[in-house]
Amino acid sequence: MLQADRAFVRAAARADKAALEKLLDSDFTWTDSDGKTLTKADVLRDPPKLAIVNQSEAQLKQYAYGELGDVQANLGRTHVLRVWAKRPAGWTAMVYQEVLSLDAPPSFAPGAGNDCENPCKTVPYQPKNEAERQVVTAYSKLETAAMAHNSAVFSTLVADEFVAASSNSNKLYDKRGRMEDFDHSKMAGVAPTPLLAARMFDFGDVVLMTSEHQPDRGKPLHVTRVWVKRDGSWMETLSYQTSVAAGPATPQGPLPLATQMRQPLLTEDTVKISEHVWAILGFPNIAIIVGDRATLVVDTGLGPRNGATVARVAARLSKGPKLFLTTTHFHPEHAGGEPGFPAGTILIRNTVQQQEMEQHGLEIVERFRNMSAQNAELLKDLHLRTPDILFQDQAKLDLGGGVTARLLWLGAGHTKGDELTFVEPDRTLVSGDIVQNKVVPGIAADGGTSSSWIAVLDKLAALNVRYVLPDHSPAGDGSLIASERSFLSDVQARALALQRQGTSAEDAGRELSLELKNKYADWPSTNVTGLVQRIYAEAH
Ligand SMILES: [Zn+2]
Ligand SMILES: [Zn+2]
Repeated sequence: MLQADRAFVRAAARADKAALEKLLDSDFTWTDSDGKTLTKADVLRDPPKLAIVNQSEAQLKQYAYGELGDVQANLGRTHVLRVWAKRPAGWTAMVYQEVLSLDAPPSFAPGAGNDCENPCKTVPYQPKNEAERQVVTAYSKLETAAMAHNSAVFSTLVADEFVAASSNSNKLYDKRGRMEDFDHSKMAGVAPTPLLAARMFDFGDVVLMTSEHQPDRGKPLHVTRVWVKRDGSWMETLSYQTSVAAGPATPQGPLPLATQMRQPLLTEDTVKISEHVWAILGFPNIAIIVGDRATLVVDTGLGPRNGATVARVAARLSKGPKLFLTTTHFHPEHAGGEPGFPAGTILIRNTVQQQEMEQHGLEIVERFRNMSAQNAELLKDLHLRTPDILFQDQAKLDLGGGVTARLLWLGAGHTKGDELTFVEPDRTLVSGDIVQNKVVPGIAADGGTSSSWIAVLDKLAALNVRYVLPDHSPAGDGSLIASERSFLSDVQARALALQRQGTSAEDAGRELSLELKNKYADWPSTNVTGLVQRIYAEAH
């Protein structure tokens, strides 16, 4: 195999078509570092250039698995994979793939969305035989383990020689490195991604898998994996992921709430929102505001385990020793991670929110526990302490270095105690549910009214906000405040008009949901049936 590999590099370096013709399998594909994939015919027509011409400069590794083998060449940020198949006439190349890794750690990991439907639960590939069926099962299990940062299960599904290279990461991963990152909730650019299409080549106890993926954010990926069967179990030996530069990018941002709720584990990946504000995007989005002397975290994630993840990220970003924690509202994914924060964290929130927490906190924690086994585990033995500082309607935190955070209670909306955080000099608003990005407002059972919510938005309009970070939708600019207000007042005006005409709340909800679809065509959902019921009830 090594002889054939050397001959291949020589032939490709010289663009020797006759030599290449003999060395390339009929199923051969060549993927360059831009993710452009060529067939054997394409390569013979116009042989592309090699990313690493002089193999003696590179670190070379080779693995043989009976009828299939691979050679890996690493030089700086360039990682090249060549997969070889033993045919009756000799070794032929199945895959040539280049990965150019990032020169700095990525700020997010393009993934499968928070519920990881595909590939964790379903894989859109029809296996041709039993071996392929088993590989699909192992692949899905592996991605589920990665999604849950479960290094124990992960370790049973990857071989000891495992290696992962990705255009979305700055590291070449081995098995142990990947497991350590899972233990620290890091994905470092490599996460499960939905599979669009796959090809499998079966060589007995070894299977070559090539596939195309479309992550929830960023460019599509072309991926090559080699699976081996050891002691009756299929294990992944390698995963090379090349980002397809010419492919369509999926816009960056969190998924709809219902989808987010099914994956409540936060990662340590952050995005920068403005000069002093970072966010972990997830269930929910968490804000971390960094001054020279102190750091403020807004929201905790669901349960102490997520709180600890957030606290680790805050510690990494912090410049000063002091840590403040506040919460947008008392719901458990926003406030229930508090015990995961280190001793000495200064917990601060408004009095209305604290009263609500005391009144309804346990009841809603119980509701979340009953949603899934994972939630029950995350919220087990949850004990929430009383805040160190309570404020009426405004508190100003000086975080040092000219960074201040104004914590505001402006009235009821999603809940009674909704809190807003305005960061200066960034003019960034951490808005909780009060201002969202193309999401139908939801008023909780004992929350505010559409009118009180609109009144809060009117007060926010005076703040001259530049950036908005909502809790359950993508970040945006200050115009989100006006959009939120216009949507809410549109629904309110139309609902009240239909109510005056004697239309039932149910009919009005259905009618308006359709009507709003035209005016707010780019919103993922305009289902306002719940909101319309609330507006009807308010009018009584
Ligand atoms: Zn909520
Ligand atoms: Zn929430």
